Amino acid sequence: MRFDILTLFPGFFDSPLRQSIIGKAIEKGILEVKTHNIRDYAQDKHKTTDDYPYGGGHGMVMKIEPLVRALEAVAAEGPRPKVILTSPQGVPFNHALATELIAEERVAIICGRYEGVDERIKEFIDIEVSVGDYILTGGEIPALIIMDSVGRLIPGVLGEPVSKERDSFSDGLLEYPQYTRPEEWRGLRVPDILLSGNHGEIEKWRRRQSIERTCLRRPDLIQKTQLSPDDRKIIEEIKVRT
Ligand code: SAM
Repeated sequence: MRFDILTLFPGFFDSPLRQSIIGKAIEKGILEVKTHNIRDYAQDKHKTTDDYPYGGGHGMVMKIEPLVRALEAVAAEGPRPKVILTSPQGVPFNHALATELIAEERVAIICGRYEGVDERIKEFIDIEVSVGDYILTGGEIPALIIMDSVGRLIPGVLGEPVSKERDSFSDGLLEYPQYTRPEEWRGLRVPDILLSGNHGEIEKWRRRQSIERTCLRRPDLIQKTQLSPDDRKIIEEIKVRT
């Protein structure tokens, strides 16, 4: 899978894309990421990429011409990419959207800056994506978030495929709590069940924990999750207890 990042700050990506799992996926060629400096597509002598907003108001707006030229150059390099505009006004990015995106051969992500991008960019994008209800200074961090979460879902990127199937959101629930050695530290003990070696009981405990913490922390997720009759019993018990 290939990501093309359109940005005014290509240097932003140097270190994050060299680290850990994503760095290795790029090294192995499972994932390809190419950054494109939008400024290279500005045609005036000052390489202008932003201008004052029509109608007045504060800040600057990213101009459409260099961006669309950059997009056209990116599209000419292979199959048409799915084009994402990062924007706090977009659809919320989540696990379901990450899963949809792994089906794409190519994804291009536009990183906005300043007050955002000239609205006419809408004609040239497929989807606007937000990474949360807050404002960042630019779309580079959202682009990294999208690449990281989609990248780790690509087969071969994570060592153990099972681990991602169990992660929070993959089955609609938050993951159960995790512990590692030592068994006891400063009086804090690992739950006995996890030391019992009884895998059947451990699975039941984990499912219960998963349901319980999703009910308490993210009741909105429970509404959307497919639950078995046993899961529903657990929810009834939680309701009685709380
Ligand atoms: N004036 C815009 C507004 O109120 O909607 C915010 C512009 S923001 C300062 C600059 C750029 O950062 C945006 O164009 C977008 O690319 C990116 N950005 C900021 N917050 C974001 C978020 N929550 N999700 C995705 N992109 C975001």
